[in-house]
Amino acid sequence: MKIDLPMPVEKAIRRLEAHGYTAWAVGGCVRDSLLSRVPNDWDITTSARPEETAACFSDCRTLDVGIKHGTLTVIMDGMPLEITTYRDDGEYADHRHPVAVTFSGRVQDDLARRDFTVNAMAYHPERGLLDLYEGQTALCERTIACVGDAEKRFSEDGLRILRAIRFAAVLDFTVDPSTARAIHDQKELLHYIAAERIREEFCKLLMGIGAVRILREFRDVIAVFMPEIAPTFDFLQNSRYHCYDVYEHSLRALQESNADLITRLAIYLHDVGKPHTYTEDAEGGHFKGHGAVSTQLARDVLQRLRFDNATISAVVQLVDYHDRDFPAEERAVKRLMCKMSDENILRLMEVQRCDRLAHAAPYNEPKPSVWEIPRLVRRLRAEDACLSLKSLAVTGTDLLTLGYPAGKKLGEMLAELLERVIDGELPNEREALLSYAEKRLP
Ligand code: ATP
Ligand code: MG
Repeated sequence: MKIDLPMPVEKAIRRLEAHGYTAWAVGGCVRDSLLSRVPNDWDITTSARPEETAACFSDCRTLDVGIKHGTLTVIMDGMPLEITTYRDDGEYADHRHPVAVTFSGRVQDDLARRDFTVNAMAYHPERGLLDLYEGQTALCERTIACVGDAEKRFSEDGLRILRAIRFAAVLDFTVDPSTARAIHDQKELLHYIAAERIREEFCKLLMGIGAVRILREFRDVIAVFMPEIAPTFDFLQNSRYHCYDVYEHSLRALQESNADLITRLAIYLHDVGKPHTYTEDAEGGHFKGHGAVSTQLARDVLQRLRFDNATISAVVQLVDYHDRDFPAEERAVKRLMCKMSDENILRLMEVQRCDRLAHAAPYNEPKPSVWEIPRLVRRLRAEDACLSLKSLAVTGTDLLTLGYPAGKKLGEMLAELLERVIDGELPNEREALLSYAEKRLP
């Protein structure tokens, strides 16, 4: 097994070894290289203590943000390398953190503390691959399995529960049965994990190629930090428009989605309010007003997971609008463009397209508007259509000059002019607008 280490990685390993230490490339970069994936970052593990590492690289820029965990970041020929001293983590407290970080002289100890067998391999330019936990077999079989006893490893650090299913989604692997069992059994440990960490892992999971399969198999785990989704599990819709329960419908829609995080969050959450609005009559089940309830619940979820405000408002807007019909007509689209960014309109069309595809036949054809509206948006933008007071051909000052008193009436007239222009009843031309306003002087 040969891995082409980037030159700076090889240089750093050789330099540490020239100073009498041992060093290896380790973890995700080894895994990704063996899978022919491009690693996110290159980590090095070494017998050198952090201060000894620093001395070896005194000619390089270094960052010591991770120093208390034994990690020094060295910028080698422009490439940031995380160089960490071999660790032996021993006991854990609070289901997340080792009681103390103990440095070790042995690479074996360092591999034993790593989470999954595919993440526990080290590589050296001469000594080759060090694989003490059948990591290569796991890669061949495409499975995620804990290093050692799964129950114990999850109980040490609950975040590993989410990391396991995140890796399975991203790499499109399955979770080994005993690891999967431990995940289901110990999912409540996620209550010990900070919202930010959960959010990061969940987003990666949601973007993974195997996301839908994992969100189906481990839905109980997701519900630990997103209890809002639990009522949608197996919730039958009793409607000719639907052939899947609410959760499965959302997953089927997600399966169709493009790779945009905001779109995928919106699709996953778009119907979360349905169980709360269910009513039944002779025709079957109805979910009147579910958009509004879903919107509220989606906001709760995203705020609790500490998403940034821009993401929250974009997702919430998509959930809010997901069920509304927008004709592909200039006037309606211009009104939409006043309320929503172009980018979010395109996302909304993607949400609606995927939503339809997850309906029962013959209601599972996307509406043509999902293609037509993006075209209209592009055309209106290219034409620089007037959509806000900023681009109106008259200003407040013009109306003052006409004799409008400063204040409410003036504001109302500007808004009215904009409406008329958007609706195509008035051209966005100074003369026409002034004459309209003049005739209506208060
Ligand atoms: P990626 O960077 O692609 O998300 P990665 O495997 O590099 O994946 P990192 O979070 O960068 O993941 O961690 C680097 C390595 O550190 C992992 O491969 C694993 O060996 C180890 N590791 C990270 N987090 C944990 C943890 N919570 N418990 C045990 N080992 C861990
Ligand atoms: Mg990494």
